[in-house]
Amino acid sequence: MTTTPLRLMAVHAHPDDESSKGAATTARYSAEGVEVLVVSCTGGERGSILNPSYGRDITDLDEMRQVRTVEMAEAAQALGVQHRWLGFVDSGLPEGDPLPPLPPGCFALVPLEEAAAPLVELVRDFRPHVITTYDPTGGYPHPDHIMTHRVAKEAFHAAGDSDRYRDRGQPWEPLKLYYNHDFSMNRIRSMHQAMLDAGLESPFGDWVESRAAREIPEREVTTRIACSDYFDARDGALRAHATQIDPDGFFFAIPRDLEIEMWPVEEYELAESRVATTTPEDDLFAGITGNEGLSA
Ligand SMILES: [Zn+2]
Repeated sequence: MTTTPLRLMAVHAHPDDESSKGAATTARYSAEGVEVLVVSCTGGERGSILNPSYGRDITDLDEMRQVRTVEMAEAAQALGVQHRWLGFVDSGLPEGDPLPPLPPGCFALVPLEEAAAPLVELVRDFRPHVITTYDPTGGYPHPDHIMTHRVAKEAFHAAGDSDRYRDRGQPWEPLKLYYNHDFSMNRIRSMHQAMLDAGLESPFGDWVESRAAREIPEREVTTRIACSDYFDARDGALRAHATQIDPDGFFFAIPRDLEIEMWPVEEYELAESRVATTTPEDDLFAGITGNEGLSA
């Protein structure tokens, strides 16, 4: 029996999220022959310059979109993945008390069916077996991350339904939906402790304290993907996002040998599955043969 290539779609909010959440997993699957498509819902237009060594400020939305388009292409190349934009505009991270209203027309304000339609179309075109995205809290409280969860979940449910999004291609039913959990307290706390134990300065102290103070409940991890061979690819992709990622910042603070010893995996929560599988898993495609949907 011939097996069609397995396909993985990683749905993210902004260019750079694909490099900080599940990046080494996508690099690994791609290297192993899986077709991997990263989707960015927005252009990251309202991101701030987060790298102090970047050297200049960018405040114009069009310019920021253009700069981040180039960064994203470089990151996709570092990971060895395909990439598509959904074309929505970054909502920005509202700050202040009370929070200011979201800017008109931004991604988080688009009605769900309108926001999910291009993703449904992309799912029907690319036909992923597995989709990854964020949990219902967004993983962190950025309105675009919460919206990304909503559109990915909508597409997971609607893409296989011929009665929905009728003008958006032939139905395709993805088989598994996962949430990224690379910023779990468990991981941050473990890396923090490992660095202290090794006599190193840890950049995670404030993070551990502020997260503990906010009492964010830890979500379940069902699936661990061994991907330390691809940490170099991940770091290359992170560095490609020069407006966002400080090359001297916390992403690169952990010595590689310590990271491999302490945390050689990326973690996921299996949110929904249409195939039989047993958790814990070590493969996003566990329970999938690749022949599903061939006779449909
Ligand atoms: Zn983001």
